[in-house]
Amino acid sequence: MNRTVVWHAGQVTGEERALLLKQQPATLWLTGLSGAGKSTIACALERRLLDGGHAAYVLDGDNVRHGLNRDLGFSPGDRTENIRRIAEVARLLNDAGLIVVTAFISPYREDREMARSIIGEDAFLEVHVNTPIQVCEERDPKGFYKLARTGELPAFTGVSAPYEPPLEPLCSIDTARCSVDECVDRLMGFLEPFLKAIHA
Ligand code: ADP
Repeated sequence: MNRTVVWHAGQVTGEERALLLKQQPATLWLTGLSGAGKSTIACALERRLLDGGHAAYVLDGDNVRHGLNRDLGFSPGDRTENIRRIAEVARLLNDAGLIVVTAFISPYREDREMARSIIGEDAFLEVHVNTPIQVCEERDPKGFYKLARTGELPAFTGVSAPYEPPLEPLCSIDTARCSVDECVDRLMGFLEPFLKAIHA
């Protein structure tokens, strides 16, 4: 760390923000294959949270790569840096008091553990969107599996790049077996303790 960079403490605490927003911030970290349903569930969950009066924000893989992480590719090193930056942004948004929902393949266990340590053990809620690859490939919403199978898209997770499933996720969701609404219901259940009004 550069010695000329010194932390400047603010006047407002995280507790005060939690009181203002009446919620305990947390990051629901959705991990899984492309086409598993992460973005769909994240956006439906954000909708449900906002409708319920909760401040929430989705960080989505492709969207972040349009801006903040536009300089990164899909090599293992770039994927790690992608996750590090996202985790730092999630931490800042949590610090601002928001419930964050992330939708990133985040294929490496070690990277997700890095995210956990950046965001904090208590706030990091890991969810495995565990849809079978056959279903993801049938859906192929962006046509990526087709390109990956013909080799036009290299280093594609699940086809030509590894996916390391979480060993002990908070929960595992198979979107081939439950509707978007049912998935959101389950995740709302896990968020419930964070959404209770906080009193001074
Ligand atoms: P990912 O973000 O994991 O790459 P997407 O959400 O972009 O996946 O795409 C998942 C696709 O699967 C969408 O076309 C969505 O409509 C479809 N789908 C079907 N059933 C479900 C479900 N229960 N949950 C989420 N997505 C579903």
